[in-house]
Amino acid sequence: MGIEVISEIEFGFRHAKGQVIAITGSNGKTTTTKLIHHILAKANYDVGLGGNIGFSFARLVAESPTEWYVLEISSFQLDDIVTFKPKISIVTNITPDHLDRYDYDFDKYATAKLRICENQDESDLLIYSEQDEVISSRLEKLESQCQKIGIKPPKSNELLISKNGQKFKLGNPNLKGKHNALNALCAIEAALASGVAPEVIQAGLDDFQNAPHRLERVGEFGGVVFTNDSKATNVDSVWYALDAIDAPIIWIVGGTDKGNDYSPLDDLVREKVKCIVCLGLENLKIIKHYEEFGIPIFDTSSLGLCFEKIKEVAKEGDQVLLSPACASFDLFRNYEDRGEQFKAGVKVNFG
Ligand code: ADP
Repeated sequence: MGIEVISEIEFGFRHAKGQVIAITGSNGKTTTTKLIHHILAKANYDVGLGGNIGFSFARLVAESPTEWYVLEISSFQLDDIVTFKPKISIVTNITPDHLDRYDYDFDKYATAKLRICENQDESDLLIYSEQDEVISSRLEKLESQCQKIGIKPPKSNELLISKNGQKFKLGNPNLKGKHNALNALCAIEAALASGVAPEVIQAGLDDFQNAPHRLERVGEFGGVVFTNDSKATNVDSVWYALDAIDAPIIWIVGGTDKGNDYSPLDDLVREKVKCIVCLGLENLKIIKHYEEFGIPIFDTSSLGLCFEKIKEVAKEGDQVLLSPACASFDLFRNYEDRGEQFKAGVKVNFG
């Protein structure tokens, strides 16, 4: 008798009795997953949170089964699915990331992400970003018969309107920026489709606390505001950070490059960045990219040296933003370690 080897996600799905809401994308997975879970929990649903964050799906199913599962799913986890069929799937966006693990082939990476809806049928829902051409163009060719809701960037980040015309206010500072307005719209549609009342969704939006290291305000010291966005490990997430933070910005960037093209950031860098502090063992690519911009650029290889530079250049009214566009493994254990060391160092050096 042959033995079937299946992935953990597939195993969880085959044994789960509850409904699955699955979230993938290059950026915004954790925020959107946590927000949906928070709203469903507020509505008193029996709901678990897991997948690529917290406990694995299989462990949730085995040890603490629930009627609903909100799962963050990475492209690597989607590589091995067979029958995985979420009731609601969300693709927040598809932008270059992890290309080193997909033979530097963006097409392979994008195809892997969209597998999230390959088994969905007419009774299931896909929520995706309509402005994302990578998703929209591929969806036209996909055979999935599922229902679809395309999210558009809202006219105002403070007032979000769902497809059925319900209005929601977004005043929570933990959901600052255009990217979080998109994440919140995805969460609103998923919660409405799951039967949550609009007033409960609003309450969930109002008191949501995001995970650390995502545009996390560290504090204001000597009139300088410090923000920890250590989880911004690709160019697209940095675009949203530079867009959301007011000028003048002292931008800390660098680490282990994953095949980055920095040019999508050029306009925002010209407009808002007063000084670039590279933090990494190998910063040449970034320095070369920005050397003609006429912006002071410093090469540092430790957090201590990075803080020394910031002490020299920071003035009242500046915003220091750690939004590295790179992985952290050259100098830190992981992005959490980088963010924690940054926060502690800010307090020691500037507090
Ligand atoms: P993921 O789990 O996909 O890595 P996170 O919610 O942890 O996503 O956010 C990772 C980084 O991306 C953070 O810097 C965050 O500010 C940024 N980000 C969050 N949502 C989006 C989005 N929809 N588009 C682009 N960047 C985003």
